[in-house]
Amino acid sequence: MIIHDIYESPFINEMCEVTKNLWRNGWDERNGGNISYMLDTEEVRLYLDLGRSINEADLDFEVKELAGKIFLVSASGSYFKNICKNPAKNLAIVKISDDGKKYHVLWGLEDGGVPTSELASHLKCHAVRLAQDPDHRVILHCHSIAISAMTFVHELDEKKFTRSLWEMITECLVVFPDGVSVLPWMVAGTVELGLASAEKMRDSRVVIWPHHGIMGAGQSMDDAFGLVETVEKAADIYMRVVSVPGGFKQKISSEQLWALSDQFGVTPKAGILEDRKN
Ligand SMILES: [Zn+2]
Repeated sequence: MIIHDIYESPFINEMCEVTKNLWRNGWDERNGGNISYMLDTEEVRLYLDLGRSINEADLDFEVKELAGKIFLVSASGSYFKNICKNPAKNLAIVKISDDGKKYHVLWGLEDGGVPTSELASHLKCHAVRLAQDPDHRVILHCHSIAISAMTFVHELDEKKFTRSLWEMITECLVVFPDGVSVLPWMVAGTVELGLASAEKMRDSRVVIWPHHGIMGAGQSMDDAFGLVETVEKAADIYMRVVSVPGGFKQKISSEQLWALSDQFGVTPKAGILEDRKN
């Protein structure tokens, strides 16, 4: 089989593109943020010898559901600003072992680094999302600004938080009818945060980490990025409105949101809108 240059692979190029955009948006300062992309094994085979493991390490916990799956992930400490300049140093392609207890590094980490410290969170979230949606592929975490700001001024009740976001842009309900989940503040990089995020991802593709950032899931890079972008923009509008003296004069009503859900054929997450009048 012909092995192509990995720098020509769509997945490396997509990763470069999305990390550059995340950084440009100001959502991944310094080494903030991490991302993981489940790859198609047959596609990776065109670029890499899958039998060659550069390194291996134990996972913090078992992910049997992901046995044999291959992920492109950002490296721990990598600056999203720099991923494009040196993908082989700032990224890794890892394969989960057959028992789901460790990972093999197939490519990357050229300076001897390790995958993102949030790898545990990412893998658990991938497992949960895949069980909900076989087309799921991407988990992305970033420090988006307005969402973080909103967690300082808005109640952290996830139903109220979702409602406030839905009310900010007419199409929010269509983009994330499954709403957002909100965790209590937790220490970053811990197994506890990973497990709590994964639990929330059972019924929502967005998990907000108060005073920290956001985790989003998607079927592609564009899907995950677009989701986070939409939630962030809604939060930005919320913050702008509450910053104006007098604040809100009107909002999109429950009835209007129900009408929207009819038009676009989506089902709003239960318990957020008031019951329909008719
Ligand atoms: Zn973070």
